[in-house]
Amino acid sequence: MSGQRDGLATYLSTSTANQSTNIETPAVALAIGAHPDDIEFGCGATLTKWAQQGTEIHIAILTDGRRGTWDREQDQLALSLSRQNEAKAAAAVLGASSPTFLQQIDGELRATPNLIVRLVALFRSVRPTVVLTHDPWKRYRLHPDHRIAGEVVIDALVQARDESFWPELSLPATRPTSLLLFEADVEDHSEIIELPHMQTKADALVCHHSQYPSSYGLALDSPNAAQELLTRLLEVASESDSGLLAERFKLITDL
Ligand SMILES: [Zn+2]
Repeated sequence: MSGQRDGLATYLSTSTANQSTNIETPAVALAIGAHPDDIEFGCGATLTKWAQQGTEIHIAILTDGRRGTWDREQDQLALSLSRQNEAKAAAAVLGASSPTFLQQIDGELRATPNLIVRLVALFRSVRPTVVLTHDPWKRYRLHPDHRIAGEVVIDALVQARDESFWPELSLPATRPTSLLLFEADVEDHSEIIELPHMQTKADALVCHHSQYPSSYGLALDSPNAAQELLTRLLEVASESDSGLLAERFKLITDL
């Protein structure tokens, strides 16, 4: 398949801000985050909802998370190993298979050809129906890893669907049906979730124990971390007009 659909139609289409709800439950979902715990924050409830409906859930984490601490005494490689184990536990809670770790240096993520081809191989192996990642076009966001994560995943998605890229992989091209961008600049899609999905999302986030002080604002020995996280998540996820719970995305289906 070539990228022909990027041609004239791209220039003739007009941008609309239609709101949509709940894509068809995908056969295979691939979520790719910059750091361990980004996927849980961005789409954890949606992934666990789909997992319960039979979707095969794959997770990939681009960086090693070695800078996820305020403790100058913390050994960075030891932290990255701890964070891998935390991510494995969280993926199991969500109902996903064990994560793929791309092991780029936390804080120094770059869209290198080497990383792109590894992601192209992942796309062509997993063959996702739906891809979920960071929105690289989120305005005024300072964290470079989140921006570049979105860029590199979309670059890889485009190359994975086109046979003329990386024939040496000997893997057939693949074209997902939907791309869902979390922490999006323009949110136009809601995945409606139920309270138990949100509880599972909080349980998955709790697996990232190393992040309690630096990311969650919790003490390491916080006795009720899951409940505190759940309370905060529910505030963000409540749809103002319907009262339903949702995770919100930018949806792109012209792939
Ligand atoms: Zn992050």
